[in-house]
Amino acid sequence: MIIDDSLDKIAADVAICRLCRLFRTRTNAVPGEGSSLVKAVLIGEAPGRSEDEQGRPFVGKAGKILDYVLRETGINRSQIFITNLVKCRPPGNRIPTVDEVTTCRMYLDREFAFLRPKIIGLLGRTAYSTFIGGDGFSSDRGRILKKNGQTYLITFHPAAAIYNKSLIESLKSDFTKMSSEFGL
Ligand code: SF4
Repeated sequence: MIIDDSLDKIAADVAICRLCRLFRTRTNAVPGEGSSLVKAVLIGEAPGRSEDEQGRPFVGKAGKILDYVLRETGINRSQIFITNLVKCRPPGNRIPTVDEVTTCRMYLDREFAFLRPKIIGLLGRTAYSTFIGGDGFSSDRGRILKKNGQTYLITFHPAAAIYNKSLIESLKSDFTKMSSEFGL
């Protein structure tokens, strides 16, 4: 266990990490981003092209949808911490492999240990299957559920709404539920 950790230390370690194959193809590693005083953490799958170029999470098309949904539901981006299962972009935006997610998990665990979030928003199927397990994403989407003492919101990845705009209303509904139940 790392004591006296900080978000800056975690970000610095991520920036130089070479623990899995994804370091070979990244431009920049993308650590989580947000205040140290948040109640909610949102977890996506992996950085995309824009995130890889800028070294920041959710700054591309999916990030714009996320910003819109947050704005529409009255949640300030400073009220949440945004991160990904893996901190480096998989080539061609493929889904990260289980061993890549497992290797990178220690950074997520350090972020959680530091932030102690009241709720974790799992954005999309890959985050869902990593934390909840199984293939019940469709039936669980929109629910707030507990596993091993941690509370999770199950919702879509904003990238899914790029080509299916109807999902934006579902995202707004899910984020409104999270906001009202957790006082964001
Ligand atoms: S994806 Fe995670 S484990 Fe792999 S190189 Fe990047 S920071 Fe390290």
